[in-house]
Amino acid sequence: AAVFALFARKLIRQFIIRDRLDQKLRAYSQDLRRDNLGLHELVHTDTLTQLANRRRFDDVLAHELARAARGNTPLALILLDVDYFKKFNDHYGHPAGDACLEEVGRLLARQVNRNGDLAARYGGEEFAIVLPNTDLAGATAVAERIRAEILALQMPHQESPLGVVSASLGVAALASPMEARDLVAHADRQLYEAKRRGRNRVCGDGCTPGESGGQAAQ
Ligand code: GH3
Ligand code: MG
Ligand code: MG
Repeated sequence: AAVFALFARKLIRQFIIRDRLDQKLRAYSQDLRRDNLGLHELVHTDTLTQLANRRRFDDVLAHELARAARGNTPLALILLDVDYFKKFNDHYGHPAGDACLEEVGRLLARQVNRNGDLAARYGGEEFAIVLPNTDLAGATAVAERIRAEILALQMPHQESPLGVVSASLGVAALASPMEARDLVAHADRQLYEAKRRGRNRVCGDGCTPGESGGQAAQ
């Protein structure tokens, strides 16, 4: 009986140790999963604006292009570039420039919130918006709303002819199955056209006049 009791005690102790180890392992794997999620966020987020970064934009655009081709559904892309931003930095300083980009980022996060849509910082003072299941007319309406909202922020910009921060936007819609770089190039051409026509405007298939008409390109 004594041997049996000893054996039983040993067994119970083993069970308790195993249970503690199990609990620790579960906690570690939960921590690891949380860290991985955090890392995933970090790798795909722009640190200044908290929007998706260029890497995530590239991934999402490739994925959505493939999906649009498979389902024969529309897809649109908007490129946005802040006007006279070099002058803004030169006049107000780089930290103020950063604050301006953060503000634009917050606005885009508010404005681009339909499920599946993605607003990203493309680089510098340029942003990109992917709009799945959206045609040119729909995307142009979104772009126009964003242009007007940026102007409505009334962020002072003494070096701009408008006196406030504005942005130019180029819109492109998928015509047939297309490579990501071709869609980006198309939107970029429209953006260039918006700049050329005076900034503070949207160009897609035809350009909308900016609220204040803008200035001739320099
Ligand atoms: P345009 O109206 O033709 O777009 O002129 P622009 O001055 O906005 O364009 P340009 O490409 O000449 O200048 C872009 C400026 O954006 C230059 C660069 O210093 C500034 N910039 C890029 N990234 C950042 C950033 O992260 N923070 C700040 N503060 N400025 C940035
Ligand atoms: Mg630029
Ligand atoms: Mg610019």
